[in-house]
Amino acid sequence: MNEVILLRYGEIFLKGKNYSFFENSLFKNIKYRLKDINLKLEKISGRFLISDFDILDKQKIIDILKTVFGLVSISIAYEVETSYDNILTVCEKININKKSFKVETKRADKTFPMKSFELSAKIGGVILKNNPTVSVDVHSPEETIYIEVRENGKSYVYYEKIQCLCGMPVGTAGKGMLLLSGGIDSPVAGFLMSKRGLSLNAIHFHSYPYTSEQAKQKVIDLANIIKKYTGNIRLFVVPFTKIQEEIHKKCDDEYMVILVRRFMMDIAERVAIKNNCSALITGENLAQVASQTVESITVTNQMSKLLPIFRPLISFDKIEISKISTDIGAYETSVLPYEDCCSVFLPESPVTHPKLDKIAKNEELLNRECLIEDAISNIEIIDIKN
Ligand code: ATP
Ligand code: MG
Repeated sequence: MNEVILLRYGEIFLKGKNYSFFENSLFKNIKYRLKDINLKLEKISGRFLISDFDILDKQKIIDILKTVFGLVSISIAYEVETSYDNILTVCEKININKKSFKVETKRADKTFPMKSFELSAKIGGVILKNNPTVSVDVHSPEETIYIEVRENGKSYVYYEKIQCLCGMPVGTAGKGMLLLSGGIDSPVAGFLMSKRGLSLNAIHFHSYPYTSEQAKQKVIDLANIIKKYTGNIRLFVVPFTKIQEEIHKKCDDEYMVILVRRFMMDIAERVAIKNNCSALITGENLAQVASQTVESITVTNQMSKLLPIFRPLISFDKIEISKISTDIGAYETSVLPYEDCCSVFLPESPVTHPKLDKIAKNEELLNRECLIEDAISNIEIIDIKN
């Protein structure tokens, strides 16, 4: 009798021609994440199976699997060579500390001589005899004992299903460029888009010395926190000081933030395209701040001419975002008090209904192409690796 881990993935991508693409991607992602632990990972029909691991590594393996997008749930199972007696030996040891239970059997191996319901009933009877204070409830039991008789000549018995993150395997939807600030929102936005299968690059705009080295380090730390879910991230740090100084010197104060954000989007798209990203991702959230009114979003949106901008948090409120941020372990870092470049030269009353003609007039005062090219050619690349 071996302790193994059964891994379940969604039915969504089990359909259609692309089945093996998704399954192989998920398999590869899991293999990569577990590469430092001695174990055997294999495919059995419609599931993955982990065996031959040191019992001391069990919790570590479970903790990693709980961060892999595409997995629906996992179970610690007992594996035996298929026979009634072997299954019985496992089930005889089961102690139920709930009030009711049922046994549910899946018989994928049709050569096994008992039908599913017969096996469930017989094993259920044995468990009941060994746990006399418990009753059988086939409709809403507090505990379900699962028996799977599979085609590989093995059977599995388990009772707990540990929920995983669901979503799609990272990389199956291509690559996105996350605009990563040091705030609460953008790491969560990256997490959520990665959950839909995007792998990530990230871009951060840094205005040294107006923003500190700690502010940059905070962004690196945040990328290190979310990489646990998103996989490796290539982070582009863009020197943004000159652009902000130029805008501050030459343009209308109230348009400062909007102009800054248009530069960000423009640069982000150029860097994204150069690095084979097919979408931009921001943590924008409707009506949260002046730069996130519909009008403000419209005029920054226009700067990304070729790529879509994904804003997974657009309708969330801060409580919901903070909850996810806490769950993924980013919150404490996000709330450290280091300034973001958006708050440098912040005007007293930033425009909330920006007008395109005013933007155009302001941008004519700047040598945009030169400033952008200069910033891009001085990008620092930091590889954030698992
Ligand atoms: P966050 O909590 O993510 O910082 P926020 O509520 O502070 O968001 P803004 O400052 O308006 O909102 O930023 C909106 C979005 O713009 C951010 O979620 C992020 O995607 C992007 N952004 C802001 N500042 C930067 C920066 N310095 N570098 C890269 N992207 C940024
Ligand atoms: Mg911010």
